[in-house]
Amino acid sequence: MPGGIALRAVVDKDLCIGCGLCPEVCPDVFQMGDDDKAHVRDDADYSAGCAQEAADSCPAGAIAVE
Ligand code: SF4
Repeated sequence: MPGGIALRAVVDKDLCIGCGLCPEVCPDVFQMGDDDKAHVRDDADYSAGCAQEAADSCPAGAIAVE
């Protein structure tokens, strides 16, 4: 990703439709929870730089990265 690596990601659980895409795109940062919504991992590792890609791929626009 040009322009640097995201340092933080947030999932809006009201928007998340539980499609499972973000953990597939970026398993170091996202995981599916017991509520079938995506969660940011407690031990999220942003070094792979995939958080932005996951946000861009989310069909619900539920992921914000900064
Ligand atoms: Fe939810 Fe978006 Fe992740 Fe799909 S890609 S699980 S809608 S946050």
